[in-house]
Amino acid sequence: MLRAWAGQPAIDHHCHPLRRWPYQLSALELRAAFTEALDPQLAAHHVVHTSGYQDAIHRLGRELRCEPTETAVLASRNAKDAAGYARQLLSSTATGMMLVDAGFATAGAFTLAEQEQATGIAQREIIRLETLAESLIKEADDPREWFSAVRSALDAAIRRGAVGVKTICAYRATLRLQPVDTDALGVAFSATRLRAERGEHPRLSGSALCHALLFEAALACRELDVPLQVHCGFGDPDEDLAETSPLGLRPLFIDPAYRGLRVALLHCYPYHREAAYLCSVFPDVYMDLSLTIPFAGLEGSRAMREALGLCPTSKLLYASDASRYPEVFFVAAAAHREALAGAMSELVDHGIADTTAAVNAGRQVLAENARRIYNLKD
Ligand SMILES: [Zn+2]
Repeated sequence: MLRAWAGQPAIDHHCHPLRRWPYQLSALELRAAFTEALDPQLAAHHVVHTSGYQDAIHRLGRELRCEPTETAVLASRNAKDAAGYARQLLSSTATGMMLVDAGFATAGAFTLAEQEQATGIAQREIIRLETLAESLIKEADDPREWFSAVRSALDAAIRRGAVGVKTICAYRATLRLQPVDTDALGVAFSATRLRAERGEHPRLSGSALCHALLFEAALACRELDVPLQVHCGFGDPDEDLAETSPLGLRPLFIDPAYRGLRVALLHCYPYHREAAYLCSVFPDVYMDLSLTIPFAGLEGSRAMREALGLCPTSKLLYASDASRYPEVFFVAAAAHREALAGAMSELVDHGIADTTAAVNAGRQVLAENARRIYNLKD
């Protein structure tokens, strides 16, 4: 399978900006890139004991032809020409296009244009809904005006080439979507707008604001004919994992107002089976296992098999969710292709698919599904 896909460039439908090279990478920085933990004690003492990180170090050791230890990997990469090294790792990912959520950009990150130039890989923009909406709240007198400004801005962004919208509602409220109470929305809007007027960051949070915004964005995405990406499942401890199951998005799937809206469920772990179920019963729901692979280590390949229990291969998307360092893109891509190859080979072994069908199903996951649902041209 892996050989058959070697010439198949992947579309990474969800990733983030890389850090502008050159720079030297420390052990703590590399570890922090393989955990969602914010508490530095995790990177200091525990990340090295995860199967995800050990897998990463072994893959990097093989690629760099050095000992599979953190020390050797870091010494080897830090001694190399930064641009050549980054290009080497990124070209091993066989990525043909990246869809980039630049709403999560750390200091010193490339802009999309710089990233395209530096990596030689085509870049397309994904708009982060909450970041955009926060930037527009100060100028609006009421929620209606605010939503209309958000819609105009989304429309403008899509016209200038953005290909989708992403929501981080899971971090700011709950994914158990509820009908919005107009009074509660008014109160939350005024309080948040006041913060903006005082020069504070108008961080959106709570169900009234976040759900009202999400419903508006869902309508806008349907009209603009672009997918809405929804962060589901695990992420950093800012979110309550219990509130991030994609099952809570049901109103988007059953209300006729959203009919035709394409929803891409991101990450999903540990709710990847729930996501797979949604993909199996609602026509416009899609999912990925980004972040799950490679962070969940051994569990990543199991998650791939579990997702492909119910999820049709026409609905699973490839993404790395990588950011900052080429190492993360490299490890995510390699682990993803292997997990996919493992699942597809199992279908062949069980006589469920022949080799040609399994290879073609893998191509759907690596690129064709994303090309179709994002209407991508080369
Ligand atoms: Zn992400």
